[in-house]
Amino acid sequence: MAAQELTPFEQSVVNSITEEAWLDLASALIRCGQPDSGNALDPDQPPAKEEAIAYMVAGELKGMGFTVEMPTKRRGRPNVLGRIKGGEGPSLMINDHLDTYPVVEPEKWDKTDFDPYKATRHGDLLYARGTSDTRGNMASALIALQAVTDAKPELAGELIACFTVDEERDGTDGSIFVTQELGLKPDYSITAEPTAWGGPEGPWGLSVSTANSGHCLVEIELTGTKGHIWRPDIVANPILEAGRLLSDLETMAFTHVPHKFMGHTPPMCSVVRIRGGLTGEIQFSPDTCTITLSVVGIVPGMTMESVLQDIQNVTSGMLGGRNDIAAAVRQVPGSLFVAGTPNVEEHEEPVATLSDVYETMRGERPRLNRKNAFNDTIRFREAGVNAVTFGPGEDGWAADNEWISIPKSVEAAKIYAVTIMRLLGAKQ
Ligand SMILES: [Zn+2]
Repeated sequence: MAAQELTPFEQSVVNSITEEAWLDLASALIRCGQPDSGNALDPDQPPAKEEAIAYMVAGELKGMGFTVEMPTKRRGRPNVLGRIKGGEGPSLMINDHLDTYPVVEPEKWDKTDFDPYKATRHGDLLYARGTSDTRGNMASALIALQAVTDAKPELAGELIACFTVDEERDGTDGSIFVTQELGLKPDYSITAEPTAWGGPEGPWGLSVSTANSGHCLVEIELTGTKGHIWRPDIVANPILEAGRLLSDLETMAFTHVPHKFMGHTPPMCSVVRIRGGLTGEIQFSPDTCTITLSVVGIVPGMTMESVLQDIQNVTSGMLGGRNDIAAAVRQVPGSLFVAGTPNVEEHEEPVATLSDVYETMRGERPRLNRKNAFNDTIRFREAGVNAVTFGPGEDGWAADNEWISIPKSVEAAKIYAVTIMRLLGAKQ
């Protein structure tokens, strides 16, 4: 069946979305409230303060005619919840998050003159912190909402705009709060987060992520004997044992039942930190070494207990019953275990309409995948919402010199706009 052409009403809304509008808004959003919006996954780092960007987004939504609330779990971190009441039909939520990843090494951001929040265009790409994750996506979502609301359509269902805090740290003050404590449960949700593929050149597209993998943080503390550097022959050095353990961690398999809809990354370890040796004690080998890792690619059915047991088995196996090295395996204190989610089926909304609109605009069906990263989609799925992820940010964006494709961002805004109109039965 051929994709349904745009109606004249849809075409007029699409025509009002321009690259210039996206660039202006994205650049302003990227600068707003930074660096205070930076929110590291590290449980021992202070949380973000997203207040400034929350007020900017709330203002944008009010200007479009949304009724806006700012429900707040923690001082300085208001969520933004806008509603336009339609008929009694299914409701649709457009979601994105207000925090970003922090910048730790600004000296590496040569594409933005070493100011990571200065949105800077090079060709078709816009560089800055928060382009791909996620203020570039946010700009696409907001200009789509602007284009739709400017047309003043009659809507058959409620349109909800939900912008959350605390997404980079698994949603405690944001998506967990609005679903579990406020009972937010739209029928359909589209999270504007990175699902683009193809890189800066050549063919490209945007996947629809209909499920997410889960993740968790684990640390392995190896304890041996502190020794003089002169006698490595008699010392149980935990740094050396950690080195041996790393290759086992890289190749280990986790106990799981393969899901019918697996992601590209199987359950596996991503080692992020290794800590051993004390400043001022370079004459000694240390008595402890700690490996911190993230277990990613977690599918439904895996638990914190099963993950810890698998790692414990690998660690015990590597140490082979030695009693001069002890190993403690634990979840990183203050971190959350995030489970993998079941997928929304291809024929269910919002996947069906989003895919049809994508085909109309791009001439092909979008790829459906399981996104191997956290985003708020997970919390909405856990609340029983048909929630998916779709956005122009690059899936696997660069940690330094982060960028987003400008053409993908403008195209995403057009796809959002038509999808909103069709899912909500918008009439002139
Ligand atoms: Zn994000």
